[in-house]
Amino acid sequence: MMTLEIKNGVFGYPNKSILTDINFELNTGEIVCVLGKNGAGKTTLFKSMLGVLKPLSGSVLLNGKVIEHWNRPQFARLVGYIPQARSLPFPFTVMDVVLFGRTAHMSAFGSPGKKDYIIAEECLDMLNITYLKNRTFTHLSGGEQQMVIVARALAQQPSFLIMDEPTSSLDFGNQIKIIRQVNALKNNSLGIIMATHSPDHAFMCDAKVAIVHEGRIWKAGHSNDIVSEEILKEIYGVEVKVRSLGNKPECNRLVCIPTV
Ligand code: ADP
Repeated sequence: MMTLEIKNGVFGYPNKSILTDINFELNTGEIVCVLGKNGAGKTTLFKSMLGVLKPLSGSVLLNGKVIEHWNRPQFARLVGYIPQARSLPFPFTVMDVVLFGRTAHMSAFGSPGKKDYIIAEECLDMLNITYLKNRTFTHLSGGEQQMVIVARALAQQPSFLIMDEPTSSLDFGNQIKIIRQVNALKNNSLGIIMATHSPDHAFMCDAKVAIVHEGRIWKAGHSNDIVSEEILKEIYGVEVKVRSLGNKPECNRLVCIPTV
């Protein structure tokens, strides 16, 4: 088992701390959904976990070793990142974009080999987007681009995946496909931390949740124990009913029903 851990983290920007007193652990084989309203600090948390933002104090450790001390390609082989969907100026084919995910596995200046192509094809296939393979990335819709970015992260074959609102620009079907894929990856022993605006995603993944609120991880635990009507009202300021779908094993999860 591997661990990505935060000890006494204070995260933010020069002269501006956003999150304090962060103690957190993500293990391989588990999913943590990060909930919190816009501007709560979810992206700041992720960038700090990736070493893109240096902690103002405290530390982030991968397998017990502070991430600044990891050699970057080695770190990149273990920790994948799916940023918030936005138009990326990649004037490349979809296949090329997915192959970039293999970079951390190639030698310096190496070009992709047969194995890299096979893995890239498998990742496209897993997400049912093989038909996009030869299209130009910049000509795709936002949702299609996001699926390709997910395929690129899978091609990296990381042990951890940090996903910043991976479903935000996806249509209903693709959102569900991504959530199913996240569940499959967990069963393949990946550790996944995913920001989402939908508490239902946490229920669908039977995931742990970490609620980022008021500058800290305000609540953490299993979604069934944490995500309640009171908590959703407190963080999002809206009335939501939380109900069980039923008591049959195949549909016994909780769901959120907003009152309108
Ligand atoms: P979330 O991902 O939860 O929407 P963010 O982590 O993006 O939240 O933002 C948290 C806070 O950090 C916001 O108040 C935002 O304005 C601030 N922030 C984000 N990026 C920067 C930056 N580069 N410099 C200073 N403040 C920033």
